[in-house]
Amino acid sequence: MTLRPTDSSTLLIDGKLVPGGGGTFDILDPSTGAVLGHAADGTAADLDTAIDAARRAFDETDWCRDHGFRAHCLRQLRDALRWHIEELREITIAEVGAPRFLTAGAHLEGPVDDLLWFADLAETYSWTQDLGNASPMGIPTHRYLLKEAVGVVGAITPWNFPHQINFAKIGPALAAGNTVVLKPAPDTPWCAALVARIAAEETDLPPGVFNVVTSSDHRIGALLAEDPRVDLISFTGSTATGKSVMRAAADNLKKVFLELGGKSAFLVLDDADLRGACSMAAFTVCTHAGQGCAITTRLVVPRERYDEAVALTADTMRGIRPGNPDDAGTVCGPLISERQRERVEGYIRSAVEEGGTVVVGGGRPAEHDRGFFIEPTLIAGLDNSARAAREEIFGPVLVVIPHDGDADAVRIANDSPYGLSGAVYGTDPDRIARVVAGVRTGTLGVNGGIWYAADAPFGGYKQSGIGREMGVAGFEEYLETKLVAEPA
Ligand code: NAD
Repeated sequence: MTLRPTDSSTLLIDGKLVPGGGGTFDILDPSTGAVLGHAADGTAADLDTAIDAARRAFDETDWCRDHGFRAHCLRQLRDALRWHIEELREITIAEVGAPRFLTAGAHLEGPVDDLLWFADLAETYSWTQDLGNASPMGIPTHRYLLKEAVGVVGAITPWNFPHQINFAKIGPALAAGNTVVLKPAPDTPWCAALVARIAAEETDLPPGVFNVVTSSDHRIGALLAEDPRVDLISFTGSTATGKSVMRAAADNLKKVFLELGGKSAFLVLDDADLRGACSMAAFTVCTHAGQGCAITTRLVVPRERYDEAVALTADTMRGIRPGNPDDAGTVCGPLISERQRERVEGYIRSAVEEGGTVVVGGGRPAEHDRGFFIEPTLIAGLDNSARAAREEIFGPVLVVIPHDGDADAVRIANDSPYGLSGAVYGTDPDRIARVVAGVRTGTLGVNGGIWYAADAPFGGYKQSGIGREMGVAGFEEYLETKLVAEPA
């Protein structure tokens, strides 16, 4: 495997690939714990230059007005990424610990192709919208709206699905006419650095339109959030960091768009296929070692079939062993870091302290003496008040909770500070419709329905976020609305 960024990981600032002012920092391989290579360590001064470049590209060029040129650049970027897809895949597997099978969809190919959807939207969107005539205060007036880019976008992203999240921000932000400074997570700088190199060397994106500042220092994100030259912060990460981004952005009232954490419920109604539902819930929580914001981590089942549900779920989870992410058959790879593994282990301990039973897993897999692996873990015997049922664990840990009918299942789903996603399994369409209407989350899958797509807005209720990513709604997060009135 050749990982080219080990030799040439750079920042992208004002169209140039440059070294980080802070030298480089180590990247660890999650499946071995060993140093995989080095990434450019961006500093506050690098960020300052990048924001300046983005500001100039927005204020002093035609980028925001030339819809066709932007579509052309995004299509070029998508084609160039496709050309480098195997290089991107190897880096995603090595750096993120992403299972190879997932790179063919949610991690890489899907998000790369989604750029085309946003390129098309740049050309087909109604940039001018006629509101028709009216007579405010008796004066005949014609009104129209101009939809315009917000300006400089600061994009701050996490490590768990780096390409999907980076492209879900870059695509709509650039298509809408903004310029971007991307600050990826310190755990996964190569994914962004390689995209930066491809963008710089193989597309016509003008200098300053797209900048990438990798850094070992979380404070670079904080500086981006508070900088008055930035018009909008598009943030994906934990709810705690999202709150601090919002506070930092408040000083100059910049717009914030937040995609945050979740504790989503998988509701099984008493007329559902229990075996099918339990095995789907088990598989879902093991995928990418549970490191997905929208993964369902509370399995809520009819009380009278609780033991049966636990046994069925356990059957599937026992069959999914943590594996090398490079292997085609691996569903559950390593966690991203030792810190994350210790966090997950802390939640498993807390579940036992609160009276829960570890039915499957609970420890480090004997077959992996290196890397940040943890066993898929099933916990029974807790209700929804336990910490493991309330807080985001971000590991392959599933808590099974009993319910006393549809209304109680909805109550349990909603008894959470989060409202990101969820699943409903049942047979009777009327009952399903009532449950769907009752659950307060931004997305819901019914009987295995997949909600992710370029045209489908994704986001959270409550403390899971503000705004929507993807779809026309996601694109419009990056637009301002100007109302123009003239004599009719
Ligand atoms: P995190 O909040 O620790 O970090 C996210 C990003 O914010 C990183 O780039 C980090 O460097 C930066 N950052 C850290 N402190 C900052 C500060 N004070 N100001 C500005 N930026 C700062 O999250 P993580 O551990 O990288 O990712 C996991 C979290 O992301 C989970 O909570 C998960 O649910 C969430 N997530 C949400 C979605 C979604 O779409 N809702 C998607 C993926 C992940």
